[in-house]
Order: sequence, then C-alpha cells, then structure tokens
Amino acid sequence: MNRFTSCPAERKVTRQVHVGPVSVGGGAPIRVQSMTCTRTENVAATVDQILDLENAGCEIIRVAVPTLKAAEGLAKIKTQIHIPLVADIHFNHRLALRALDEGADKIRINPGNIGGRDRFETVLKAASRRGVPVRIGVNAGSLEKALLEKHGGVTAGGLVESAMNHIRICEEAGFTDLVISIKASDIPLMIEANRLLSEKTDYPLHLGVTEAGTEKEGILRSAVGIGTLLAEGIGDTIRISLTGDPAAEVKAAYGILKALHLRKRGITMVSCPTCGRTRIDLVQVVEKIEKALENENKSLTVAVMGCEVNGPGEAREADIGVACGKKTALLFSRGETIRKIKSDEIVDAIVTEVRNWTPEHGESDR
Ligand code: SF4
Repeated sequence: MNRFTSCPAERKVTRQVHVGPVSVGGGAPIRVQSMTCTRTENVAATVDQILDLENAGCEIIRVAVPTLKAAEGLAKIKTQIHIPLVADIHFNHRLALRALDEGADKIRINPGNIGGRDRFETVLKAASRRGVPVRIGVNAGSLEKALLEKHGGVTAGGLVESAMNHIRICEEAGFTDLVISIKASDIPLMIEANRLLSEKTDYPLHLGVTEAGTEKEGILRSAVGIGTLLAEGIGDTIRISLTGDPAAEVKAAYGILKALHLRKRGITMVSCPTCGRTRIDLVQVVEKIEKALENENKSLTVAVMGCEVNGPGEAREADIGVACGKKTALLFSRGETIRKIKSDEIVDAIVTEVRNWTPEHGESDR
C-alpha cells in the first residue's frame, strides 16, 4: 500500500480531437510530443530522428515545413514512421495545402502570419475535407500589432484575445477540429495566459514554453510553467522545447508527467540527498542503477536510500527499494523486506529485481 495518494486537481474537461489514431483531450492521456531539428527536406535524417523519438516515447511528431520540397517529403516520411505527423507552417498557406495532400495528420498554423482570412479559411476547408485537426499557435513574440496597442504590450489578456479571435474565425467557417496553444518564454505570462484561455474555451490545449533554453535551464523552466498548469488540471498535450537533442525533450516531458502522477513510463528513481549518516558512495550507486535501467519500459519506482535509519521508510514505499548501511543493505519489494545484501551487490540486486518484475507484481502507483 502506498501512502502517496494525492493527485493533481481534477482535469479540465475538453473536447477530443484525433491526430491520426492518437486522441488528444476529452480525457485522453496527456500526450507527449516533440519536434524534429533536422531539415525536413532530408527525409532519411528526419525519419531516423523520428524513430529515435518514438523509442523515447514520443506520441506525436511535428516537422517544420518551410519549403515546397519539405512538404513534398511528408508522404515519404509518413510511410516510415509509426506516430502521427504534424506539419508546422508559417507564412505560406500553399505549404499547408500541400502538406494536407501529402497526408499530414495535423497542421500547426499561426493564422496571424498566413496571409489573411481568406487563405486561412482555404486551409481550414482543406483540413475539414480530410478530417485533419488544426492547431492554432499564438506566440508572445508575434502578437498582432492592434492587440499590442490595445493591451499596452504583450499581456495574457492580449494573447488570449488573439487566440479567441482565431477560434471565432474557425467557428464562423464551421471548423471546430482545433487544438489551441499560447506560448511565451516568460513563465508567469505563459501560466496566466493559459489559465485565462482554459476558462474561456474547452478546446484541448497544447502547453509549451518557447525558447526555454538548453537542457539544464529549459527543463527547469518548462517544469515550472507546464507543471504548474498540469497540476491545476489544465493541458492536454505538452511539448518541452529544448536547444539540443529532442529525445531529451521527450524524457523531460515524461519526467514532468510522472512527477504529477499523470503518466507512467519507465523507472522513477527516488534517492535521498545523503547526509552525515551515509556510509557508502550513494551517488555512484544511484548513477549506476540509473544507467542500467535507462531504457527499461516497466513503470516502477525504485528508491535508493543512504542509511538504515530513515531509509527503510521510503524504500518500503517504492516498488523496489534499498536502505544502505556501511557494509550491508536491506532490499525491499512492495513494502516487504526481501533480504540483506552486501553493499557491492546493491546495483545488481536492484537491476535483477526490476528485470524479474512481472505484470502480476503490478505497476507503480506513484
Ligand atoms: Fe541521511 Fe538516511 Fe535521510 Fe539519506 S535517508 S538523507 S542517509 S538520514
């Protein structure tokens, strides 16, 4: 029995859209998405990266479509991957039309820069004919001039007004297969704008922090921004934007979702900060276990604690846990003491317990 039973706030009920076979919103699991950083025109490199991201757990992948050649490659990419493909379009509505012809599963568009209402509506009609949803992306960096003037700069109210204006245009055109995002690099602004948006609409929301930064800074900023909203029940799909390998984005996204008990994937490591009671090199032990289990797909919590005084409590709460003494350690599984082991057996013992874990043992409830 686990003592950690609290959950984030009840999730806001949103409409459901289907990106290819993947549902978003309407009670579906919060979807993890990412974006390739290859040139989309290079089909082979783009497919390679998408396959890596699939392995990491990415459920929806977006590619930039800045040229006709990139749009023309989408069908070839689609045949070689296994997750829905989203075309990211700016400035040229013909690229959106071509992406739809090539089988894109979703179009991401900024209606403010696509060349006017007529062209936007042309894209909506084409998407509607194919049953493809559209994500309207509003970015703090490209808020319309009139709204900047009205709101005295980039404000949450201005961003939400922009998104609601775009939604109205879609609805007037009879198109409601929508996902909405408001992104900003400023975290309080991004949080406030999405809270406001969530009050005003029930379309599913895509959460993200733009220009979040490199892994170290970007994960922290995204965890605060996206995590705050998720904890309030807001958000249906997330993308962590990092300067670097997109596989790290996917890993970080699951990290945030797991921390809030919203998704399960892989091993959740719990380890103590060590203190004057620690008698072994706990950092090294934890790093070795983490490395050995980094590609493990079983959803389990593993606790590695530095002493036999306070360690057993936490180790018992995990699926598999260890409380380390000076030369020996106590190994736990689902609250039961399994046996005493030698300190140099800890890594192997934990890894073996994880490998031997069968579905009958259950999955982590943390
Ligand atoms: Fe210190 Fe033990 Fe707590 Fe780790 S579990 S911080 S070693 S008291």
